[in-house]
Amino acid sequence: MKKTPFVTLEKIQEITKTIPTPFHIYDEAGIRANARALREAFAWNKGFKEYFAVKATPNPYILKLLHEEGCGCDCATYTELLLAEAVGITGHDIMFSSNVTPELDMRKARELGAYINLDDATYVDFLAKLGPVPETVCLRYNPGGSFSLGNTIMDMPRDAKYGMTEDQLGGAVLRLQKLGVKHFGIHAFLASNTTTNEYYPELAAKLFRLAVRLKNATGAHIAFINLSGGIGVDYRPEQPACDIRVIGQGVREKYEQILTPAGMDDVAIFSELGRFMLAPYGELISTVLHQKHIYREYVGLDACAADLMRPAMYGAYHHITVLGKEDAVLDHVYDVTGGLCENNDKFAIERSLPEIRVGDILAIHDTGAHGHCMGYNYNGKLRGAEVLLHPDGSFDLIRRAETPMDYFATLDCTEFSFHN
Ligand SMILES: *Cc1c(COP(=O)(O)O)cnc(C)c1O
Repeated sequence: MKKTPFVTLEKIQEITKTIPTPFHIYDEAGIRANARALREAFAWNKGFKEYFAVKATPNPYILKLLHEEGCGCDCATYTELLLAEAVGITGHDIMFSSNVTPELDMRKARELGAYINLDDATYVDFLAKLGPVPETVCLRYNPGGSFSLGNTIMDMPRDAKYGMTEDQLGGAVLRLQKLGVKHFGIHAFLASNTTTNEYYPELAAKLFRLAVRLKNATGAHIAFINLSGGIGVDYRPEQPACDIRVIGQGVREKYEQILTPAGMDDVAIFSELGRFMLAPYGELISTVLHQKHIYREYVGLDACAADLMRPAMYGAYHHITVLGKEDAVLDHVYDVTGGLCENNDKFAIERSLPEIRVGDILAIHDTGAHGHCMGYNYNGKLRGAEVLLHPDGSFDLIRRAETPMDYFATLDCTEFSFHN
């Protein structure tokens, strides 16, 4: 399907009067509509809740907006817990899905009353050492082997550092019961950025069967199944997009096949989606600074991998639209680059685009998740701003761009002085 940006050149020209490029812009209307579609797709499940994976877009304005749509937060670190707390998201509106967890982080999660998702059986003692254990505890499962959908291997859980084996999980339940735990959750994250509607239902079936076995073996009350993240988005125009209604129905069928006959129809379904909630509703807006022609044709932007690392890090595809040239023929081929002294700092390689001129403004699509937040300061490059576009066309700066003084702020420096 043709990808069209959610902003026009006119809107961006209005915004750049006060906020210079590069910046990520987020589409409030799109975020809200998508969050509602998710909620409707799982409305058949009484306890359904999405815990937005904070790491994907750790901006309090985004967390607040999602909270208004009924979402909680999935946090993995102390800092992410502080973000949730600042927005007023506490208690069972937080899922704490961490690994290699420092004591400080676990204490903070307990203080906020979050659901605790234990990455390993050894964390039972770690948790007990910090004080009374909560009434409900979630356990992260790793089935090992490979995870396939039909003939396609999606990922290799046996190579993943997360979660525990089924035996360990059973042992953890028994020990937690002795410590007074009454209710349990089960969590697994087995494949990332899946663009098939089959992933969630297959994962759900695996976890539902595990829940039945666990209940039979230990008598444990399974309160929720956390399907975690992993629903992907159509980064490429030719890719199919997931259909969240079909996914919700697929999970429902497995629920009614496996949990209902086992008398377990009070189990709530949780999700910890990041990419699916935000990626399509963010775009990186950047201006063409230079053009050069050597063995290839290059377009150099004011944004670089510091603003969006996925292409450099994973070779990820992000679609690009030249604003104002949405319908022009794609009769030129460019490498679109940033200015890092790293040859992998390319947003696109040999991409067909319309003719580009210095000063043109590009929209790099699907940067709403794992975009700004993955940025870094290599080469003294500074991360750009974040802007929230409201449904009525007004906009707010929700994070200013970094300045050189931010870059120097962590130097405990009496010997040198910096001037902006
Ligand atoms: C990264 C992560 C998520 C979100 O993953 P997406 O691919 O963005 O949906 C959810 N839960 C945990 C524990 C994660 O590490």
